[in-house]
Amino acid sequence: MMRAARRWAAGLLCALLLPAASPQAMPAVLPPLPPLSVQQIAPGVWVHVGLIGDFAADNAGDLANLGFVVGSRCVAVIDTGGSRQVGAALLAAIRLHTTLPVCYVIATHMHPDHLLGHAAFRTEPAEFVSSVHQGKSLAARAAGYLTRQASQLGAQAAGTAIVPADRLVDGEMVLDLGGRHLQLRTWRTAHTDNDLTVQDDLSGTLFTGDLLFVGHLPVIDGSLRGWLAILPILRTLVHGPVVPGHGPPGNGSEPFQAQERYLQQLATEVRAALKGGRTLAETVAQSPAPTGGWQLVELYHRRNVTAAFAELEWED
Ligand SMILES: [Zn+2]
Repeated sequence: MMRAARRWAAGLLCALLLPAASPQAMPAVLPPLPPLSVQQIAPGVWVHVGLIGDFAADNAGDLANLGFVVGSRCVAVIDTGGSRQVGAALLAAIRLHTTLPVCYVIATHMHPDHLLGHAAFRTEPAEFVSSVHQGKSLAARAAGYLTRQASQLGAQAAGTAIVPADRLVDGEMVLDLGGRHLQLRTWRTAHTDNDLTVQDDLSGTLFTGDLLFVGHLPVIDGSLRGWLAILPILRTLVHGPVVPGHGPPGNGSEPFQAQERYLQQLATEVRAALKGGRTLAETVAQSPAPTGGWQLVELYHRRNVTAAFAELEWED
């Protein structure tokens, strides 16, 4: 389909998916958030570190790490936050450092804390980029994501919409920003079924999306076995700063090992439970609290045990 026609059709779909807005919940004009705080972790590579927590009115969905990379021609944005408000605050932060246009808005995966800020970038001449697998999975969740985000954020959800991708990545793709290139890669099902990483050729900076969590307990919404299988490959890509989906950016591959320990421990426990004939409820109830000092264990560990049980129950 022609791009304009595709956008129109997708816009219609999104209009249908948007939750009904009450006049009280959606004021006509919402004061903008201040520009997001960003740090330059390599020349022309900027990162905003999101809060570790859940969607709430006082954070506007500012939970995921967001980034932008500045070339000589234009700027690429990697993830846009959990609301249009956060996306607009990211764009305001970009404008403090460059006047170049945003030419690409890249989603590392479908989760709402990473891409519900996309609508703020519709004013830019940007192509929206995602894994080829994102559209279908996001379409199945979009209505639920928007309804839940609206109830959690209240007025801060105003203007949020699902923006469909214009450019789809299947395997590898290189984006030229002028004087530097970004290497995009899609992965087998791991954190989700539509994970995508971004690597800058000048600095080596690797944006992992949620294929890497630091501090924040890893969350399985795809495949535990798939995730464990790709972690050794991801580690080989570390030649510079690493920006996880959540938690502080760093250098080196130690955070991958910490995450692998948690996921491996989970797989070992759940396999033992299955071998011992335990039910899902018993397995969840008896799962020990994970070691490693993770945050948000209460919110996500039981969910991970449940996901692991459902997956490993059918393995040979
Ligand atoms: Zn995620």
